Amino acid sequence: MSHPLTRAQREMLAQVLREREQVVRAQLQGHQQGRSQAEKALAAREQDGDDAKQLASDQEIGVALTNRERQELAALAAAMQRLNEADYGLCVDCGKRIPFERLIIEPQALRCVACESKRETRKTG
Ligand SMILES: [Zn+2]
Repeated sequence: MSHPLTRAQREMLAQVLREREQVVRAQLQGHQQGRSQAEKALAAREQDGDDAKQLASDQEIGVALTNRERQELAALAAAMQRLNEADYGLCVDCGKRIPFERLIIEPQALRCVACESKRETRKTG
């Protein structure tokens, strides 16, 4: 069985993945810096009620964002590895091909739109 994607398509996807990775890495760095600033300020003003609360929530938001970016980086790295494997671009749930138009927007996608929305419906409801 031949690879569902052409070589040119895979090269485009690899390019998208690399660009996305750089963007997420830069975001992650920014949030980590913001977080350590919030931590320092928090330690310095522990006695100060309102400020400390605000800083603590800034710090929590920073942690959440950082975790999300770490997850995205891991997904991008995994996609990069899978890109040249025969099952890249196949939906992990139904096995159908994920359209290239979807992959170019979200190269780390594991599911077709139908399965992804089914999954999201399950998650929220
Ligand atoms: Zn599917």
